[in-house]
Amino acid sequence: MTPDLDPSTVVVHAGRPERVPNAPVGGSPVFSSTYVAGGDRGYGRFGNDAWTALEDTLGQLEGGRALTFASGMAAAAAVIDLVPVGGRVVAPQHAYSGVLALLDQQAETSRLTVDRVDIANTESVVQTLDGAALLWIESPTNPAMEVADIPALAAAGHAAGATVVVDNTFATPLLQQPLALGADVVMHSATKFIAGHSDVILGAVITADDNLWSAIELRRRSLGAIPGSMDAWLALRGLRTLALRLDRAQSNAAYLAERLRRHPRISRVRYPGLPDDPGHARAAAQMSGFGAILSIELGGDAEGAQQVCERTKLWVHATSLGGVESLLERRRRWAIEVPTIPEDLIRLSVGIEHPEDLWTDLDQALTSLT
Ligand SMILES: *Cc1c(COP(=O)(O)O)cnc(C)c1O
Repeated sequence: MTPDLDPSTVVVHAGRPERVPNAPVGGSPVFSSTYVAGGDRGYGRFGNDAWTALEDTLGQLEGGRALTFASGMAAAAAVIDLVPVGGRVVAPQHAYSGVLALLDQQAETSRLTVDRVDIANTESVVQTLDGAALLWIESPTNPAMEVADIPALAAAGHAAGATVVVDNTFATPLLQQPLALGADVVMHSATKFIAGHSDVILGAVITADDNLWSAIELRRRSLGAIPGSMDAWLALRGLRTLALRLDRAQSNAAYLAERLRRHPRISRVRYPGLPDDPGHARAAAQMSGFGAILSIELGGDAEGAQQVCERTKLWVHATSLGGVESLLERRRRWAIEVPTIPEDLIRLSVGIEHPEDLWTDLDQALTSLT
């Protein structure tokens, strides 16, 4: 495709069938485990046309070659499997709890070792990097909304000999391209903004390094965590509207962040789009927008935050994020969540509804607290 197209155009046009008479405008799911011999496909665990269409699109958006997986966790696990036995991983103190739990499990069996760092504190991360095999970055972090200096950390990671991975789920490929910022591998939970409709679990890895791509592809084949064809097709169908969904969700998030910070029931709003947020300058330098996730703290205990989640009528009390509908949850309701995440922190995944409706519902839930 023409290299100078805007990403909002690429997301619509990439990964489509060749334009020849009678060809469908968009591809279809292919339901086959088995292929006639003589070609390069071989078997359904090695490839599928619906994966290829989604992978072509994600690859063009991130500036590399993509591999899709059964889930974001399957994608993360394939990348973590690159660490040699006994190798050291440097990972954020706050990040997606499932990834941190997987690293802990592997450390418990001595498969690898893990050092947790404050990913927003570049200097302290750099000091920990010597001898690391893998630097795992997430930015902005889930759910603390910290912003890592990706270019500085990628350069320091490479100087130390580490492979640098960025979980780009919160930013999406439209707001942040970690490969261009120096990372080796990008990982996504495509379950979230990419698929965008809370109906698919899917993951992706993108890299511009052919050796890394082959090593990760080998793990997909051998570990077998492949996406279903229908799921890959649904994710690409959702991805087509990402630019529009994100525009609306992001402007809703910015509007709510401004109003929420002035709400008497709220002690802190974490959103890198706020000018006084600790991650604002960094996010402005490496992202083309601040995204549609924010976290709020009530300055009290778990109970008040829990009540707010249970008293909204429009916002859905549910885990996950990145769908068209707004969701909220108190993250510490999960035993797996990191204990340094405040008990009263509520993560908001802002959807594409009308901003006033979202505000009115949140305000009534907050104001109802005695
Ligand atoms: C949800 C999520 C994951 C895990 O992805 P699944 O598709 O649920 O397996 C990883 N990282 C982040 C930042 C997430 O939000």
